[in-house]
Amino acid sequence: MSSTVLILIDGLRPDAISPANCPSLEALRARGASTLRATSVMPSITLPVHTSIFHSVPPGRHGITTNTWAPMARPLPGLVDVAKAAGLRSAFFHNWEPLRDLNRPETLAFSYFRDNCYTDPDGDQVIADEAVRYLRSDRPDFMFVYLGTVDVYGHNHGWMSPRYIEQVRRVDNAVGAVLAAIPDDHAVVLTSDHGGHDRSHGADIPEDMTVPWVAAGAGIRRGVDIHAPISLLDTAPTIARLLGLKAHADWEGRCVEEILA
Ligand SMILES: [Zn+2]
Repeated sequence: MSSTVLILIDGLRPDAISPANCPSLEALRARGASTLRATSVMPSITLPVHTSIFHSVPPGRHGITTNTWAPMARPLPGLVDVAKAAGLRSAFFHNWEPLRDLNRPETLAFSYFRDNCYTDPDGDQVIADEAVRYLRSDRPDFMFVYLGTVDVYGHNHGWMSPRYIEQVRRVDNAVGAVLAAIPDDHAVVLTSDHGGHDRSHGADIPEDMTVPWVAAGAGIRRGVDIHAPISLLDTAPTIARLLGLKAHADWEGRCVEEILA
């Protein structure tokens, strides 16, 4: 098994990576397996999609369809819940508060939240720095690092606008700081929850639904372009496999076998 770090850049369109010039992201892709054509779920909105990423079922199954907190209509265990049941230690780092409800109580070993994604262009760097500190001191089995500012720049200035692209470049630095701290015996998965168009997202159109999905590190094949369709529902089953866990029977995604070394 490999300890695994999941990095999520909120609202990152895959076609922004090249114009933004993202050396950290590109280096991760070069040493791992990746696609720029993974698919989100509908509605392509942050909390519904995150609930789907962690529970491997679409919003129609878990019932979270807006960014306003509500209990799952038909609850099922998520990735962190399954990891906890197996005795693994998980940690969350985020700057968008509603993500605290992605896991059941008493499943996290550590969590760090700072309300800075709307106010601080370097807010993601703060989250990254805390994640690096904890990674070095405590070596969790699974760590989630959520970086929220790119989505804010999309809403404020427009997806693919110069200010949005500039922010993608800035967040690549924060990603680089986390990647540099991850030991060689760990795996990394990096993705986004949705893209965007104009100053919005949530629609069933390619600009909103297409996201990057990258895996690299221990247990992952190097230099692979993933050609098979990837859904964000595949994230939890794949990370479970990397962690040496069985996917929960109710999860609907698949482990992306073709990336495994
Ligand atoms: Zn989002």
